[in-house]
Amino acid sequence: MSYREYAFKVRETIKKHHQWMSKSLPMIASENITSALVREVTASDFAHRYAEGKPGKRLYQGCKYIDEVENIAVDLAKKLFDAPYVNVLPTSGVVSNLSVYTAFSKPGDTLMALKVTHGGHISHAELSAAGVRGLKVKTFPFDHEKMNIDVEKSIEKIREVKPRIILFGASVFLFPHPVRELREAADEVGATVMYDAAHVLGLIAGGEFQQPLKEGVDVISSSRHKTFPGPQGGIILAKEEYSKIIDRAVFPGLVSNHHLHHLAGLAVALAEMLEFGKSYASQIVKNSKALAKALDDRGFNVLCKDQGYTKSHHVLVDVSEQGGGTFVAETLEKANIIINKNLLPWDDISKAANPSGIRLGTQELTRIGMKEGEMEEVADFFKRLVIDRESVEKVKNDVVEMRENFTEVRYAFDSQNPYKYYEFL
Ligand SMILES: *Cc1c(COP(=O)(O)O)cnc(C)c1O
Repeated sequence: MSYREYAFKVRETIKKHHQWMSKSLPMIASENITSALVREVTASDFAHRYAEGKPGKRLYQGCKYIDEVENIAVDLAKKLFDAPYVNVLPTSGVVSNLSVYTAFSKPGDTLMALKVTHGGHISHAELSAAGVRGLKVKTFPFDHEKMNIDVEKSIEKIREVKPRIILFGASVFLFPHPVRELREAADEVGATVMYDAAHVLGLIAGGEFQQPLKEGVDVISSSRHKTFPGPQGGIILAKEEYSKIIDRAVFPGLVSNHHLHHLAGLAVALAEMLEFGKSYASQIVKNSKALAKALDDRGFNVLCKDQGYTKSHHVLVDVSEQGGGTFVAETLEKANIIINKNLLPWDDISKAANPSGIRLGTQELTRIGMKEGEMEEVADFFKRLVIDRESVEKVKNDVVEMRENFTEVRYAFDSQNPYKYYEFL
């Protein structure tokens, strides 16, 4: 192949990806779809520029319009999250976490977080960002039945290990974490209380799930692209008193260029959430509950039935009776239903290649306009594929047909089909 052909092959391959995604049911809980307006500003010349320093006091020239956009993003974020301090520079959720670790701890300090098999993110572990900061990680005692942090045992453990940072938040996150319940123990040992909202930021923005700042956390660290429908990146929200140490940890600490095209997309997504966030977030939670019940009704082992299954965008299913997480995820993919396999709390980490569970997210289906009725249809597809073992081709045709009615992005000012935005589809 010539280099020219390689270059155009990239374009052709992305075109195939867009066609596939636009005919699929996207149910990966850590993903979302941005509106056409977000995509337009993200493809702008901002992608090529640098803007080190603060708006109005940049180290580079050429920033006057970038400054305007950054000020809009910061103002809208403060309003949306009712947060006294906002930092929109982190380029990802992990960079955001590492920045907060850097601001609030020293190498050798202890971090208390959730174990990865209990839903903790890899960046909460010693082999990732926490270890990069030199933190020793102690994990929260976890209640398998409630799928949540065990409050009584955690109070004891906090008193015993005296962590420098207590980190709430997770990548498997059915129910709000006990922030209020553990705040007093944190104060006894002088710990900073941090909340990683990567998965649930869009729910928090829309008034669902929980309100960590009001419940007593010192600092929220997050991504912007899971339930929050922005382009990829990170964000930090905190009490005003921490502004200086966080600013310094982020720049000059861990971020030089802050991906200004994604900053522009964030500003648009913040405006969308201020306008539509409440109805979007409440529909996500309704959809998760409806999907969980519909799967349960069809014979799936959906976790936490006694607690109403979920209060977030997540639904967790134990599929060990249906061939395990790997088989189920691969089968669904063949029929254009995109999900991921997931470890469940009782799985040993050695089961990572074939865990017992699957994790589903309803945020993107919600964003393209699906409601409770559609969740029944989705659950039917799951049953036909995984329990009845119907032909994959047949189900796939029905999935594609269903998706034809959901081509627009809702809860946005510009609802055109985002895949059509690109002239080459
Ligand atoms: C996804 C995730 C992150 C990482 O975000 P990136 O933008 O991928 O770096 C951090 N924390 C939690 C809880 C996550 O789920």
